Amino acid sequence: MFHVEHFTNMDDEARWQAVRTKDRRFDGAFVTGVHSTGIYCRPSCPARLPHRCNVRFYATPADAEAAGLRPCKRCAPDRQSAAETCVRAAIAAITAQGRMSLAELAGLTGYSATHFQRIFTRSTGLSPAAYARALRQSRAEAALIAGPSVGEAIAAAGYAKPDHFYAERKGREGMSPNDWRRGGAGRRIFWAVLATSLGEMLVAATDKGVCCLAFGEGEAQLRARFPKAELVAAGAEMRDLFARVVEAVEQPGPLSAAIPLDVAGTAFQQRVWEELRRIPCGETRSYGQLAAALGQPGAARAVGGANAANPVAVLTPCHRVIAADGSLGGYAWGLEIKAELLRRERAAREPG
Ligand SMILES: [Zn+2]
Repeated sequence: MFHVEHFTNMDDEARWQAVRTKDRRFDGAFVTGVHSTGIYCRPSCPARLPHRCNVRFYATPADAEAAGLRPCKRCAPDRQSAAETCVRAAIAAITAQGRMSLAELAGLTGYSATHFQRIFTRSTGLSPAAYARALRQSRAEAALIAGPSVGEAIAAAGYAKPDHFYAERKGREGMSPNDWRRGGAGRRIFWAVLATSLGEMLVAATDKGVCCLAFGEGEAQLRARFPKAELVAAGAEMRDLFARVVEAVEQPGPLSAAIPLDVAGTAFQQRVWEELRRIPCGETRSYGQLAAALGQPGAARAVGGANAANPVAVLTPCHRVIAADGSLGGYAWGLEIKAELLRRERAAREPG
């Protein structure tokens, strides 16, 4: 189960990561050429991991063979299943054409529309329409960060009208497209490092809401997150908001959900963070359960990535996600803090 950004933004570093973890989601997205042995493999090949220095990546089996490599006998990268071929063809068409109807896509692959939709959704975790939408959003967001103008970026990403881009983002919190493009320039961010029972905590907020909450961080880390924003030591204007944030840490409860947030992330990250905020205080979920709740069972790894990228500890409660076996799993700010937050939330839930 892959996430669309892996395809649009993948570099060799990301490909090597897929090979190291034998990640099946990338089978068909590229092949791994091992020049010491003259063989090429699927990313998920079960054989021993080659040395990185002997590896080169190729987009297709044909490219690898043109470079003089032979297909591996164990993972048979040259023999894609009919379903794989169908899904890759559809993705290539969506990537090239943007908007395509289900009937057009199915016709391209020779399957009925219903059967095609089922194969595509099982393989990617998204319906063809949702895939195209995610691809457009991902492209527009990438272009907004790099591009010359909001209008051009949105048009280049395949939206017929700018309204459609905004409509797809409707209801999502976060910086406006202009802010995305300018990397936070023109934003004033008020910040403070506050003492809590869990150690020092960096809190930062715009006039719209909290944009960063991180344990053990300070101005340098905030600057790295918002390189172009104006950073201002918080004064009286933030006293009430920051007091509520500290209270959410010290005495967790449902009220913390009412603290306004101003967070920027990709479309997928935003969906994951929204889902995290639906986990009731005092409860936990596994990455798999969270992925299932998002309608993407099997996307647990991508959910884990979005979870780790959460810029607002506690208020977007990524600490409520634990490993499938009930152990704590990971936490960006240290497992002791995660364990203590969960203990406080369970205690707050118990009657009396
Ligand atoms: Zn192989």
